Amino acid sequence: MTDPATGPSVPPGLPDLKGAVVTVAGLGVSGVPAAKALLDLGAVVTVVNGPAGERQQTEAAELEALGATVRLGDADTLPEGTTLVVTTPGWKPTAPLFQAAAAAGAEVWGDVELAWRLRGPGAAPWLAVTGTNGKTTTTRMLAAILTAAGLRTAAVGNIGVSLLDVVLGEQEYDVLAVELSSYQLHWAPSLRPHSAAVLNLAPDHLDWHGSMEAYAADKGRAYNGNTVACVYNTADPWTERLVREADVEEGCRAVGFTLGAPAPSQLGVVDGILVDRAFVEDRYGTAQELAEASDVRPAAPHNIANALAAAALARAYGVPPEAVREGLRAFRPDAHRIAEVATADGVTWIDDSKATNTHAAEASLLAYESVVWLAGGLAKGAEFDELAARAAPRLRAAVLFGADRALIREALARHAPQVPVVELDRTDTGAMSAAVAAAGDLARPGDTVLLAPACASMDMFSNYNERGDRFAEAVLARTAPAGGGREAAGPAGGDR
Ligand code: ADP
Repeated sequence: MTDPATGPSVPPGLPDLKGAVVTVAGLGVSGVPAAKALLDLGAVVTVVNGPAGERQQTEAAELEALGATVRLGDADTLPEGTTLVVTTPGWKPTAPLFQAAAAAGAEVWGDVELAWRLRGPGAAPWLAVTGTNGKTTTTRMLAAILTAAGLRTAAVGNIGVSLLDVVLGEQEYDVLAVELSSYQLHWAPSLRPHSAAVLNLAPDHLDWHGSMEAYAADKGRAYNGNTVACVYNTADPWTERLVREADVEEGCRAVGFTLGAPAPSQLGVVDGILVDRAFVEDRYGTAQELAEASDVRPAAPHNIANALAAAALARAYGVPPEAVREGLRAFRPDAHRIAEVATADGVTWIDDSKATNTHAAEASLLAYESVVWLAGGLAKGAEFDELAARAAPRLRAAVLFGADRALIREALARHAPQVPVVELDRTDTGAMSAAVAAAGDLARPGDTVLLAPACASMDMFSNYNERGDRFAEAVLARTAPAGGGREAAGPAGGDR
């Protein structure tokens, strides 16, 4: 309860921020709730942000009305007297503001750290999911499984639902499925999840973290203080290493997931059945059936891996096997993640626009036998040789577009010279239709036309959603012409 004279009373164990001089770095989906929460706790809040557009102006006005000072256009200087900086995830650790904070002896917390510190006594434990790819899918699968078990839960964090809103909100939860980005983990030193999964690690965001080692170390923070299970990927030595190095609570176990038959203390797959040899009484003598691989949609290998990781976290929390099956059956993938758009003339068209890096695109490409691959965009410093070499045996053809398409063309020329390549040098709004038309001409019955660009989209589209939408529109225009009566599945997962 808030006493208007004294501000909110802070429950025992929570930081008393009344009167503290706090700087919030950044507005937006995490900065605004952070500033509001801090104001509510009686802190003296200044929000700093770079140059402001219309959205920032509106947010600034809203926060100023609540008592914050908002400084737009100067994000580098630390406001006088700051003892704590609360940062939004986009800010690089090398930003001058943080150097100034270090010099002033001010602590820096991310939005996740703030939420973690503001959890009340007896708050819902967190089951954390991180990794380079598959976080959102796995977090949603986990929430679906927990829901099927009758638990009050939500998929939160780096998934569009602010952890602060959830932690400070009225609604009560038994347990939370929390997606965490490497940026959030970087600034969350005291986070201690109940259990956590690091799904995989491939070079990404290295410009932010500085090196692969630093990126991995930040991902590894998800394991800090785990009490029941650190879930790792047996096919990914990085994740195994992070578990070995983790500082966990006494009795916490390392639990692996594998697409093969599981050893004791692992979850895996036997004859198309997802099985658990970790959370069973006799893990040396028995295995518990959880679900069938066909219960997982789409049943691509990397997605089965996601399902196993979600199942491991749910089982670590004590969820019964039937709920795993039920939850996986109820789960629907988010849009633009291996979404089947249409099947026509024996060709299946798949939108995996969310495959914005080579690791994700590779997982996608390897899920199909014969692929016409649509790729290109902004490479973000990536190299394509390994991807081209691995995908080569499956490629019917490639259609390349976007700013860095030459990098992919050159990699294909080195590792898959037999694969026909069509290159589009236009970037106008009709470019995706042209790409779809070219792919349609190259595809043969039985092929999959796969949009898995391995690149960011911002050179041609506002984001990966728009890129996927343009693709789906062009595909549907081609495969279901007015009155044509061909079969068209619509944007899959069916729900968007
Ligand atoms: P994230 O939240 O980590 O970005 P998503 O679940 O949104 O992950 O999936 C992003 C993309 O990564 C998908 O389009 C898919 O191609 C790919 N992907 C999903 N799971 C995995 C995985 N386990 N390994 C590799 N790639 C994956």
